[in-house]
Amino acid sequence: MTAHEALKAYFGYDNFRPLQEEIIQSVIDGRDTLALMPTGGGKSLCFQVPTMAMGGLCLVITPLIALMKDQVENLRQRNIRAAAIYTGMSYEQQKVALDNCMWGPYHFLYVSPERLESEEFRERLSRLPICLIAVDEAHCISQWGYDFRPSYLKIAEIRDLIKGFKVSKFQGSNIETNLHGVKQAAKPRETLPLAQVPILALTATATPDVVDDIQERLAFRKKHVLRKSFLRQNLSYVVRQTNKKADEIVHILNKVPGSAIVYVRNRQRAQELAVYLQEKGISAEFYHAGLSSKERSAKQEAWQAYPHPLPKGKGVTRVMVTTNAFGMGIDKPDVRMVIHHDLPDTIEAYFQEAGRAGRDEQRAFAVLLYDPSQDKAKARKRVADNYPPKEFVIDVYHKTCDFLGVGASSGQGHTFMLPIHDLCRIMHLPILQTYSALHLLTQAGYICFQEEQEIHPRVKILVSQREMSEYGLSKQQYQLLELLMRQYSGIFTDLQYVHLGDEAMRRLGNKATGEKQEIHDLLVSLAQRHIITYIPHSTADTLTFTCERQTDIHLSTDIYDNHRQQYIEKLKAMVEYADNNLYCRSQLLLSYFGEADATTCGTCDVCRQKAKSEKQ
Ligand code: ADP
Ligand code: MG
Repeated sequence: MTAHEALKAYFGYDNFRPLQEEIIQSVIDGRDTLALMPTGGGKSLCFQVPTMAMGGLCLVITPLIALMKDQVENLRQRNIRAAAIYTGMSYEQQKVALDNCMWGPYHFLYVSPERLESEEFRERLSRLPICLIAVDEAHCISQWGYDFRPSYLKIAEIRDLIKGFKVSKFQGSNIETNLHGVKQAAKPRETLPLAQVPILALTATATPDVVDDIQERLAFRKKHVLRKSFLRQNLSYVVRQTNKKADEIVHILNKVPGSAIVYVRNRQRAQELAVYLQEKGISAEFYHAGLSSKERSAKQEAWQAYPHPLPKGKGVTRVMVTTNAFGMGIDKPDVRMVIHHDLPDTIEAYFQEAGRAGRDEQRAFAVLLYDPSQDKAKARKRVADNYPPKEFVIDVYHKTCDFLGVGASSGQGHTFMLPIHDLCRIMHLPILQTYSALHLLTQAGYICFQEEQEIHPRVKILVSQREMSEYGLSKQQYQLLELLMRQYSGIFTDLQYVHLGDEAMRRLGNKATGEKQEIHDLLVSLAQRHIITYIPHSTADTLTFTCERQTDIHLSTDIYDNHRQQYIEKLKAMVEYADNNLYCRSQLLLSYFGEADATTCGTCDVCRQKAKSEKQ
């Protein structure tokens, strides 16, 4: 099947977007490729289409579990088999997913980078019929990028484990049509020498040094970059100096109609500002990672639908006031305006967030509000908050160990939920700097601290099977217990991760909707009667000890001083962008990303100001 046929057959699109075809061809030719495309450019199809055309299995490494689930769901809706493996899945479930990828017609295996560190996983990996390794958000591999993740460095290692696999490119006659009318490759999988599995790295943000770094760290056999210009012709960049930011936002939103996002730095501010806008008669909601996933999806849905009404008369929202938790993976083409209430940490982050406006190629605005003296002072404070003194970081390490009851030379491999507020209260630590310290300790490799992790529901059965009959259980309660016993061996001795969305469990629920809720209610009723222990689904910060508790903690120049310096420089570039009133903003941004030859945009505030003064 050709790439073009696969695009049409599986994804229903007629044409490739700019550069997609070149990237796909490069992958099909077996070349290691780094693809740079702005957000919304259509990077996912660049590994999905060639995989379907080649008929193999693609290993996709991606950092965010939420995005992973979205993509798997998306593929399933297109009748393409896809699996995901992430922390929190039971061993059994991981095994099933891997078995499916080994024997079934599965085409995508999404994994979080941490998985690559597990021996067991690596062992299985070597036996999978992988035809392509896709590394999404590839800038995470670079310490010079803005979102470094140490486990990305393991990717090069697993390359050697993967035995090549490729179905002949000429398999036109081996295509069969399944029940849904979707074509599937029917040819048995054959293995080719290992050197042939190409890697496709994808990112929307990469400065020239990061571009080199990515290719080196992924052990590219030959350097090969395909780059789509980051020019956004329909997007006007504007900086507005003001010390009355809230009022300026009201003013702008009243002037430019349409859907908008307002980015702020913290959760409280998001809420306050949304309320303020509502008071001024503007339809607005707030969003941040501290909301329950139910609230978040309801708010997202109401915003995404704007201006069209939702079914059942549910209201829609014009403006989303949010922390940077909102946006990744969200695909709303008609956002007219992205306003930044504060300076982002980096140009990379700014460009990505601002770029969410105007994906429909219609005129859109990216406005940065800037209060020079205040914002510069805040920037200096951010450096101090993000890089507290080394002695403080070491102090946080020991206090956290004490708080969690981890003694000398113990703790390795253990994961704890870490209630930061309690830790800070009891140990008298300042909250912001403590967060930073935990992240620095993570970078240094002593711990793995993760914010807002999804805690999957867990169940342990407390009574024996014989005793159950004495409780006078309802039929549904009894059926649920039976199912749990069957599916989770060991549920009588340990808390087991259970998956409330499982097909079998779903059949227990009567109604077409709210099944998970129903199962949850059943479990609560059993827990209240002390028949089971039930830990419901939640989110929490977690801490895993990657090595036993140390007496000496060392923060190297590389981990601490260099990163601090780099953080300062990136922030400085952001401040310079805000201060600038000489150069075209589009030009300035593009040159930051290594495009030196861009022309002036004519629509940013600097260009407009120039045109105006030339007229006079
Ligand atoms: P990125 O990862 O680059 O930010 P995505 O892969 O999420 O972007 O794609 C953004 C949107 O563009 C998706 O809704 C996708 O279906 C759509 N898209 C991608 N390629 C095409 C195409 N060739 N034709 C039409 N729509 C496309
Ligand atoms: Mg993407």
